[in-house]
Amino acid sequence: MKLRFLGTGTSTGVPQIGCTCPTCISTDQHDKRLRASAIVTVGDKNLLIDCGPDFRQQIINAGAPRLEAALLTHSHYDHVGGIDDLRPYCYSTDNGFPLYCKPDVAEDLRNRVPYCFRKHLYPGVPTFDIHEISDKPFAVGDIKITPLPVMHHKLPIVGFRIDNFAYITDAKTIPDETFRLMEGIDTLVINALRKKEHLSHMTLDEAIAAITRIRPRVTYLTHFADAIGRQAEIEPTLPPGIHMAYDNLTIEIP
Ligand SMILES: [Zn+2]
Ligand SMILES: [Zn+2]
Repeated sequence: MKLRFLGTGTSTGVPQIGCTCPTCISTDQHDKRLRASAIVTVGDKNLLIDCGPDFRQQIINAGAPRLEAALLTHSHYDHVGGIDDLRPYCYSTDNGFPLYCKPDVAEDLRNRVPYCFRKHLYPGVPTFDIHEISDKPFAVGDIKITPLPVMHHKLPIVGFRIDNFAYITDAKTIPDETFRLMEGIDTLVINALRKKEHLSHMTLDEAIAAITRIRPRVTYLTHFADAIGRQAEIEPTLPPGIHMAYDNLTIEIP
């Protein structure tokens, strides 16, 4: 299994419109973060996790690989804002491009891009085959996926476990049952917004506390606000086995 980070950022910090924080004025490529998204490769199948507003540029940067389906964690803009740009992937399907998401996310998508779900479709619009998931394991082809329920402040959202790998973004708290669902994982991706407290996202310290409880071999942090600071400053301060992910990083999952 393999994971490629398409993006590791959020929607904050735009130097062109005045942000002069150390991250935004950094010239280090590690600090240039598009919205959080990833491709997990299982065998010869690529699954997209989230499809934010930077998707089009991200998938071009990744060499426009074939995608089997997309798994969506929740319907906030930074995670689904690029849905319309999946259209080249829709054209090669019979029933529409497969999306796997909870019912509330499906409903939000039907409201967000209603022109993709009309009875009589305007020629050329993207079409989607929505598979509504519950908290129970499901499969995409022969890939078994376990949803990992987490709380994004008061909003229940999901991460995903595939074999010994887990991907969690936008969590503020993790229920005990979900910690149990992550037992035995080797590689973890988890969100760490910044050092300062935030209502709906874990801080760096909160992420490290969760990782200490999950005990994976290796962890990559993602979904950074610009306020997290520069990679070169934060990475050396992290405990052993914990790293900052960065855009276009590819990791092997044994
Ligand atoms: Zn969110
Ligand atoms: Zn987010």
